[in-house]
Amino acid sequence: MKHAILRGIHGRGWLRACVVMGCLAAWAAAAEKHVKPDQSDPYRAQRERMVSQDIAKGDLWGRQAVKDVKVLAAMRKVLRHEFVPREIRDQAYADRPLPIGYGQTISQPYIVASMTELLQPKPEHKALEIGAGSGYQAAVLAELVKEVYTIEIVPELSRRAEETLKRLRYDNVTVKTGDGYHGWPEHAPFDLIIVTAAAAHIPPPLVEQLKPGGRMVIPVGPPMQVQQLMILEKREDGSIRQRSVMPVRFVPLTRAPGGE
Ligand code: SAH
Repeated sequence: MKHAILRGIHGRGWLRACVVMGCLAAWAAAAEKHVKPDQSDPYRAQRERMVSQDIAKGDLWGRQAVKDVKVLAAMRKVLRHEFVPREIRDQAYADRPLPIGYGQTISQPYIVASMTELLQPKPEHKALEIGAGSGYQAAVLAELVKEVYTIEIVPELSRRAEETLKRLRYDNVTVKTGDGYHGWPEHAPFDLIIVTAAAAHIPPPLVEQLKPGGRMVIPVGPPMQVQQLMILEKREDGSIRQRSVMPVRFVPLTRAPGGE
């Protein structure tokens, strides 16, 4: 009898303990669900504001809203603050270019989104970028296409971009140091080519390395002044159609010593 009572008490005690532990576990799980995103990604709200206020909205001065939902989703996803120097992280989601060292800049979010939309990226595409800079544009493209190859002329930036992309698990991006004027013949042809530095003219090797049916976006014009963002399409028969889309301001496409 005594044993039975004891067992009963113990049994109920265990039951109570289990219920309490269960509740605690459920509470912890629920709490984690709400807390986790903020702990791991304190910039989520700023990124959302950047997309809804700066990128997905046009303005009275003729700036076109970016509408491609996949591009907007990629802009919501990529952690832009990871690509800017630590000391200016709090400005990462402002709609303007920011310095990344060596006289170079990470492009303004609206321009990154617009250029990406103009490329009409598809999941099966192979893309080439000239001017990796921070690696941010490459990451945005990597969310939308199969493979991205990106070339950066400043070795320190190239190394840093590679490290950042690796840390954030962008395994479908390959970075190399070099003069992008010549493209990357070993991996050509490309469905998409994006040049993120201003060129005085469209480099012929890049046109050559574009697949028939492919698209290239490139700012063309004098350095340190306003340039025209051009979109170039290579038709299936190899002929080229090009038009200018909007005025932009990019750092110049520099040439490696000895480059013609
Ligand atoms: N796409 C970058 C920003 C580009 S800034 C980003 O998302 O952060 C332009 C970059 O082009 C600079 O880093 C500059 O060093 C690089 N660049 C200039 N001329 C180049 C060339 N000939 N080949 C490759 N990269 C070049």
